[in-house]
Amino acid sequence: MREVARSAELRAATDAARRDGAGVGFVPTMGALHAGHRSLLARARAENDVLVASVFVNPLQFGPAEDLASYPRDRGADLAVLRAEGTDLVFLPSEGEMWPVPPDVRLQVGALADRLEGLARPGHLDGVATVVAKLLHLAGPSRAYFGQKDAQQLAVVRRMVDDLAFPNQIVACPTVRDPDGLAVSSRNAYLSPAERGQATALYRALRAGLDAFQAGRRDPAAVEAAARDLLEDAPGVGPEYVALVDPATFEPVKQAEAGQVLAAAARVGRTRLIDNVILE
Ligand code: AMP
Repeated sequence: MREVARSAELRAATDAARRDGAGVGFVPTMGALHAGHRSLLARARAENDVLVASVFVNPLQFGPAEDLASYPRDRGADLAVLRAEGTDLVFLPSEGEMWPVPPDVRLQVGALADRLEGLARPGHLDGVATVVAKLLHLAGPSRAYFGQKDAQQLAVVRRMVDDLAFPNQIVACPTVRDPDGLAVSSRNAYLSPAERGQATALYRALRAGLDAFQAGRRDPAAVEAAARDLLEDAPGVGPEYVALVDPATFEPVKQAEAGQVLAAAARVGRTRLIDNVILE
C-alpha cells in the first residue's frame, strides 16, 4: 500500500492508473476506521482495479461547538485496516495540505440542507460538499463509495455530482450494524458502557417505524409516531428528530412508500447519533 500526503501525488497516481486502463474506486473517510468503512473498502476493492482511500478529518464540516478536537484519530490502526482491505493507495493529507488557506470559494447546498441534519448542524453539509468536491477532483474519474448510514450526506453528494457534472459514479453501501442493531460509527467510541446499551433504542425505534409500514400503515405521521414513541420512552435518550423523507430531496412525503428513508437523530449522554432505515 502506497501512502501519499500531497494532493499532486494522489492526482498523478490516479491519472497514471487510468492511463494504464485501470478503473479507480475511491473511499473517502475521516479515519477511526470500523466495520462500516471496511464494507465500503471491500465493495470498492471488488469492483475496481485500483482501490484508493483517503483519511482526513475535515474541519469545514464541524461546527464551532462540535467535536473536531476530540474526534477519534488512530493513524496506525487505520493503516492496518486499509492494508487488510487491500487498499492500493491512501491519501493522508495534513490540514495545511487540504486547506493551505481557508477556501474562499465553497459549495453551498440549497434545499437539501434546509432539513434535518442541515438544520441541526448549520454549515455541516456545505463543509461536506466542499471537501468531497475537492477529494473527487483529486481522485479524478472514479467510482466513489458512500454509506447509507449518512443518508442526507449521500443525497447531497449525489446531487452535487449531478448538478455539477462530476465525472464520478456514486455507489451507496448499506449500513453496517453491531449485532444489537446499533449502527457502527466512529462516534460510538464516546459512549460509556451504559450509554452504549441505551443507544440501541435508536435502531429499535426505526425498526418500530419500519414494522408499522410493513403492517400496512401508509400515513407518514403514523410511521414516524411508531418510531418516535419508542425513542421518547427510551431511558437516557434525547430524541432530536424522526422523519420520513424522500431519499433524494429529504422532503417530507405525503404517503409512505418503499424506498423512502426513515431518519432519526438522538442524543445519548453528550453524544449525538444519527441512523436511518429504508422502507421496504
Ligand atoms: P466517516 O469516516 O464517518 O466520514 O465515514 C466515511 C464513510 O463511511 C461515509 O460514506 C459514511 O457514510 C460511511 N459509513 C460510516 N458508518 C457506516 C456504517 N455503519 N455502515 C456503512 N457505511 C458507513
